[in-house]
Amino acid sequence: MIEKNKVEQIKTPEFKIQDKIATTAKPFSVSAINKTEDRKVYKSIKPNSGANKKYNFSGNRKTTQNKRPMMSPKSPINVHPVAPGKVRIIPVGGIEEVGRNLTIVECGEDIVILDAGFQFPGEDTPGIDYLVPNTEYLEANKSRIRGIIISHAHLDHVGALPYIIERLGNPVIYSTKLTNAMIKRRHSEFPHLPEIQLEEITSSSKIQLGRSLKASFFNITHTVPDAIGIIIETKYGNILYPGDFKIDTDGNGNPIEVSEYIKLGKENNLALLMESTNSEAPGFSMSENVVHENFKRIFKSAEERIIVGTFSSQLERIMEIISIAEDLDKKVFIDGRSMKDNVAIAEELKLFKPKKGTILPVEQINDFPQNKVIAVCTGAQGEKNAALMRIASNRHKDIKITPKDTVILSSSVIPGNETSVQALKDKIARQGAKIIHHGIADVHATGHAYQEELKLMIKMLNPKFFIPVHGYYFMRKINTELAKSLNIPDKNICLAPDNGSVIETDGKTIEVLKKKVPSNYVMVDGLGVGDVQEVVMRDRQMLSQDGIFVIIATIDAQTGKVKSSPDIISRGFIYLRESQDLLKQTRFLIKKTIEDATGKMHPINASYVKEQVREKVGKFLFQKTKRRPMLLPVLLEV
Ligand SMILES: [Zn+2]
Ligand SMILES: [Zn+2]
Repeated sequence: MIEKNKVEQIKTPEFKIQDKIATTAKPFSVSAINKTEDRKVYKSIKPNSGANKKYNFSGNRKTTQNKRPMMSPKSPINVHPVAPGKVRIIPVGGIEEVGRNLTIVECGEDIVILDAGFQFPGEDTPGIDYLVPNTEYLEANKSRIRGIIISHAHLDHVGALPYIIERLGNPVIYSTKLTNAMIKRRHSEFPHLPEIQLEEITSSSKIQLGRSLKASFFNITHTVPDAIGIIIETKYGNILYPGDFKIDTDGNGNPIEVSEYIKLGKENNLALLMESTNSEAPGFSMSENVVHENFKRIFKSAEERIIVGTFSSQLERIMEIISIAEDLDKKVFIDGRSMKDNVAIAEELKLFKPKKGTILPVEQINDFPQNKVIAVCTGAQGEKNAALMRIASNRHKDIKITPKDTVILSSSVIPGNETSVQALKDKIARQGAKIIHHGIADVHATGHAYQEELKLMIKMLNPKFFIPVHGYYFMRKINTELAKSLNIPDKNICLAPDNGSVIETDGKTIEVLKKKVPSNYVMVDGLGVGDVQEVVMRDRQMLSQDGIFVIIATIDAQTGKVKSSPDIISRGFIYLRESQDLLKQTRFLIKKTIEDATGKMHPINASYVKEQVREKVGKFLFQKTKRRPMLLPVLLEV
């Protein structure tokens, strides 16, 4: 059996992994290697999708489009539609992580979806762009979907839309003006997708969703304008979904604008789905007013130029910075595409009205006295190619840091980004600029409620059932303790164990069903959605740990003898040039193993021979190096 395909595969970019490889030794089961070779990554690449990036393992842009058929891993759906007399809530994503929020409310013949976010990948998913919620249950019940309601424009609430909307049959998306505008702009980056149907709502809108569900809304304070709380009206009462929120306080720490919540609390509120992001933090979160005052002070006292790094999604803050700049007669230069887009959308929708000439193109930044200049840019998390990192590493065309600059990092450090933020600070410090971050001055306030705000919200909204969402289990568990401290009885608190948990209520009691809807990770890898399976992920982890070791041997089909010395290609395993001895021994072992196996065999059973090579060579390499690279034997019969 000639394995021509395998040789061709070796030449494809999938095997250019050297950039990603670390060489820490970690044992794994041999069976994991043995199965490896037959796996394939199927990708679904839609035409006309030039706007989207696609990476291979080495992190380079892939230019070729691969039109192999898509293979989506389907799990059997063993959860039936909701029974009459029950209301069902399914957090499909967002309760085992911060991100990837998607919650289903189902009653009678009708399903409504609350938010559709994605999550940025972690260290356990190398080479993956995003994780999106699993939509298999929704796809199976497509005809009953009455709409998707989006609470606000952050990516952990809207990011999945382009990847799932078509699979859900393109249902109507309901959201506020700004959120809709941002969804629309992002959708334009996916020209292969059909038009989306966007409906605008305000806090006074009411919408009918099929026969069993209605939606109405309430105002929310968060770090992006136009965030909205969602009320799903069911026959047993309201399901309240504030999304992400904080309770704003005045200068003296008194909550403001809560009368709406108190009024809403007088209604028949069946359940509150409350976020848990900051449930560990005691007290009240800092008011954005404090940040505003601090910015004013820093801007006034700064020696010369000011450079602010923040998230492009922190739109409220960016608008504040612009208004302070106007008061101080300074010019603002925005850098970072997403930030520019967001500010342009906010301006277009008249959410704020900067004076003409306040916001200027970054190319003009050197035309003004340095003490009149504020640069606002993306990259406060140390993202490699964002504006601030380019400035810090002297790769920015127009902005070069000087010792007279003040750099403000106006964001918290997202867990996992600690190292890149340190690298960023280091680079700025080496060029002598002054750095101000949230650890030394109040230049960032969270958008997520602290404990006292969460408690206040529970008290005001006065729900029968309490369901913590948005956050890891430990965060949600602490959230349940807050509810308990407010005398919500244990039996009315529902701490769903995992994503995909099916919560049901008949209005009197609440329970989590034993069966779950599919909720396993759906990974976006380049443009392929959901086609990267866990086996692929395991391969990537293995490759990143111990590398790859390819053996190419030519065998005489008649005699079973190995012709000439076997070729070895290895990446990320050991440095071959300095391991000539080991290679010599390995070649000898390969030859011997193959010839022992082929012995009197005719015709040659290639899979058996490869099995033997994998096992013997795998053991040998582990003895010698304490590493287990992925072994790929290729046999060419001539
Ligand atoms: Zn948010
Ligand atoms: Zn969020």
